Amino acid sequence: MSDVLCPCGTGKPYVGCCGLYIEGGQLAPDPETLMRSRYTAFCKSQYAYLKKTWHPETYPEDLEQGEPSNWVGLEIIESSWEDDEGEVEFKARLILENRLEVLHEISEFDKVDGQWLYHSGEFLNEDDPVKIARNAPCPCGSGKPFKDCHYQA
Ligand SMILES: [Zn+2]
Ligand SMILES: [Zn+2]
Repeated sequence: MSDVLCPCGTGKPYVGCCGLYIEGGQLAPDPETLMRSRYTAFCKSQYAYLKKTWHPETYPEDLEQGEPSNWVGLEIIESSWEDDEGEVEFKARLILENRLEVLHEISEFDKVDGQWLYHSGEFLNEDDPVKIARNAPCPCGSGKPFKDCHYQA
């Protein structure tokens, strides 16, 4: 399974992309890389990594009790950082109750003791979730019709 593509959308294999940080113990060098690895950790329910990269000030103690989500895509719109502070604007797509939802957020990151941490985010959502037709191609990009892929009866 070492050639499985990373969910974060770089087109690289997971082991040479976010896997370096989630399972390889390396520190993400910048906020955008951290953002990608955290998205991938959400996809894979890697809660220990999410906790490790979450600022203790804002870490939600009930994180692991949340519903597992069907994340199907990440698009980084803009990222910037200076010294110990950074910002990443992104859109993440997920399927929830057979609807496609786009989470549009600006996340803020702080560097603490040499490690980038997610601090908090501001939602910029403007669109309501869209119902996915059963015969439409699945938004996850598998090439299968939705009804044979992420559809939930
Ligand atoms: Zn990745
Ligand atoms: Zn799918």
